[in-house]
Amino acid sequence: MNSMMMDYPLTLTHILERAGRYNQSVEIVSRMPDRTIHRYTYGDFYERARSLAQSLQQAGLQPGDRVGTLMWNHYVHLEAYFGIPAAGGVLHTLNLRLHPDDLAYIIQHAGDRFLIVDDILLPLLNKVKERIDVERIFVVPLSGQPVPEDLENYEDLVAQPAPDFRYPMIAEDAPAGICYTSGTTGKPKGVVYSHRSLVLHSFASALTDCLGVSRFDTVLPVVPMFHANAWGLPFTCVMTGAKQVFPGPHLDPVSLLKLFEQERVTFTAGVPTIWFGILKQLDKGERRWNLLPNMRMVVGGAAAPESMIRAFDRYQLRVVHAWGMTETTPLGTVSMLKPNLNELSEDEQYAYRAKQGLPVPFVDVRIVNEDGPAPHDGKTMGELQVRGPWIAAGYYRLPEVSDAFTADGWLRTGDIATIDPEGYVRITDRTKDLIKSGGEWISSVELENAIMGHPDVAEAAVVGVPHPKWQERPLAAVVRKEGASLTAEELLSFLAPRFEKWWLPDEVVFVEEIPRTSSGKFLKRQLREQYRDCFKE
Ligand code: ADP
Repeated sequence: MNSMMMDYPLTLTHILERAGRYNQSVEIVSRMPDRTIHRYTYGDFYERARSLAQSLQQAGLQPGDRVGTLMWNHYVHLEAYFGIPAAGGVLHTLNLRLHPDDLAYIIQHAGDRFLIVDDILLPLLNKVKERIDVERIFVVPLSGQPVPEDLENYEDLVAQPAPDFRYPMIAEDAPAGICYTSGTTGKPKGVVYSHRSLVLHSFASALTDCLGVSRFDTVLPVVPMFHANAWGLPFTCVMTGAKQVFPGPHLDPVSLLKLFEQERVTFTAGVPTIWFGILKQLDKGERRWNLLPNMRMVVGGAAAPESMIRAFDRYQLRVVHAWGMTETTPLGTVSMLKPNLNELSEDEQYAYRAKQGLPVPFVDVRIVNEDGPAPHDGKTMGELQVRGPWIAAGYYRLPEVSDAFTADGWLRTGDIATIDPEGYVRITDRTKDLIKSGGEWISSVELENAIMGHPDVAEAAVVGVPHPKWQERPLAAVVRKEGASLTAEELLSFLAPRFEKWWLPDEVVFVEEIPRTSSGKFLKRQLREQYRDCFKE
């Protein structure tokens, strides 16, 4: 017997059509470079995204051709998110914080035919222009300045209405997007998303038990649209009809808090760095921010320390901890408490919320160590491996990176984790960041989280530094809170009851700031380099 259901492709064009048909009046708000607020609706977005698709086709875009976007988070970037795939093209979001060498490499490696660039990012583009072979460059005039004569104006692409535009035939497994990992651990690698994977990811992300995004939400992605597609939120929002608010280039705490307040934001997302800044601002107590109670804040990209979750609760802001990778589109796990865990003590509940959480439906997870698949006892560590319909099965034009995948078809995440009997995943470290001391492992993340639990600490990163006797020993780089006078001895005695003696850092250095990657994570490589002779005899 065969099933008798229709063969209906899962493509982004359906989501775009839905926006135009049912959500015309929902607002999309963007803060522009000059700080003014731009407002339009899904109806306007729909018209312009279709015009873009039509113009790209007229410009000769062929199915599968890449179009790079070098843009902040704003409404035009959203148009590109849909207009490019709707023309059969592949949206290639470019990380504007990359070194020009990496940027040039990525544009060339992906083979981008066209680029769409914010005018305020032209100075960056100019640094790579001579090294790339793109055919045409379209400039988004955000700042009110004229577009340079040798380049084309994006507005011309969306000027022509497209009432009769017909989408090309797009198979659901056709490529829709490509994103390069930011290279925290090596050369950037391209992950190619399909229409189907993005659609299914949007469904999963919208589930109440996952991110729970709906038309009743106002969503502000702080996470850049070039960082794993702003965690898929633009797609999920257009599918559900949620109001969207984009911060443009203004990511400082006060600008963000003002937007949360003015636009009545219910849902936001970003890496811990952003939330450390927001917390600092709230703690200053300079004014009362009228934020919506229980605004959900998805924290991912790096571990959310338990102390951060507790601190935001005091402001009635609800941290939702999630784990993912560029390779996983990115949603892999989300830490929401199961109803039976609500019976636990407050401390135990926080411990659960600080874990990375339960796998999203259709994401299979396992942990594997030298002995094979490890038990889900919440203690045994192993490499986290995942598979599912929105998990990469390979990298673009890099067949040699096969050690990232197992012979039986799982992605090796490079993260070390435990899984407890309830199914919650807890990332203990990245393989490369684990500290190997005397044949044992020390989790840098656990130490960091504990250090950040000290009331005088703003931020902390722990790295393993070569040691003549123990192979590596932990070193903690700590940023004190403003005005605090914490000493290394005080910090170590604070940590002592929480860890085995041999876990405690051998060295605590107080620093002004911790170096960051282009996506705002701790750049541990640099710290290791900086302190590599610290324990030399
Ligand atoms: P990059 O590899 O350049 O950092 P990604 O953004 O794809 O780019 O990073 C994915 C990695 O980020 C994961 O493998 C994991 O190490 C880390 N990560 C993501 N979310 C979390 C989280 N909630 N807790 C701890 N680590 C996380």
